[in-house]
Amino acid sequence: MLKAEKIGFRIAQHRLLEDVGCVVGPGEFVVVLGPNGAGKSTLLRVLSGDLTPTTGAVSLNGRRLRNWSPPVLARQRAVLPQQSALSFPFLVEDVVRMGRSPHRAVARERQETIVQEAMRRADVWHLAGRLYPSLSGGERQRVQLARVLAQIWDPTDLGPRYLLLDEPTSALDIAHQHQLLAIAREMLSGGELGVLAILHDLNLASAYADRILLLKNGRLVAAGPVAEIMNCADLAAVFGIPVQTIAHPQLAGRHLVITGHHVSDARPSS
Ligand code: ADP
Ligand code: MG
Repeated sequence: MLKAEKIGFRIAQHRLLEDVGCVVGPGEFVVVLGPNGAGKSTLLRVLSGDLTPTTGAVSLNGRRLRNWSPPVLARQRAVLPQQSALSFPFLVEDVVRMGRSPHRAVARERQETIVQEAMRRADVWHLAGRLYPSLSGGERQRVQLARVLAQIWDPTDLGPRYLLLDEPTSALDIAHQHQLLAIAREMLSGGELGVLAILHDLNLASAYADRILLLKNGRLVAAGPVAEIMNCADLAAVFGIPVQTIAHPQLAGRHLVITGHHVSDARPSS
């Protein structure tokens, strides 16, 4: 499993994370939710090993992240960052091929099969010959998904692999949001993969996640199974807007509705 214990992260006097714990098990889909600036991306970067926590520790399959060599770690977990700056005119299929760079020992034919399959899964196969900078934001996001899928495609002898996705649906239309999360869920079915994704839509999260973490001001406000979080009394406080969760007459589970307008603290009283 991917496990973070008592994570603190500070830059100068700024506390970006304080006493945050988090576990992603194999076969599990964990979603992190919280307002802008809550520390979600910082947590994901700590979990990926991109940032070293000031306090606490992260381990992957029982071994501290700092004890993994970068190329081996790259075969064990892949990260879809919030922004993927790539303005050089690469072809889409070459961007996806970059995901295979930690796997140099694999035969070229097999590499190509994986690249094609990853593009098919992420619904970007038809874009293979396009220049990446010419794509829309949503198309780029799906190409980046194909790249990270390609990166952790093969099982390793080091146990379960993990996908860390930072707002993977932010530029996607509704159908592609569901498609992306369904792809992530499908990948979990073998039980050899765990996914952690940062999202903004609690209803989307509750449709696909096993567990949800609510983060605010660098602290965990709540963490638990979807049903528990949907009944959490703190939702309005976390999102900063009046909300209720209601039962849908046909669909299972509860659904979040906005029940009022955001009231700015800065608004004049008269
Ligand atoms: P989220 O992804 O939840 O929107 P982030 O993890 O990106 O939030 O950032 C958490 C907070 O830390 C934000 O308020 C952000 O402005 C702040 N922050 C990020 N990087 C730095 C930095 N280098 N120095 C000071 N504050 C930072
Ligand atoms: Mg972020």
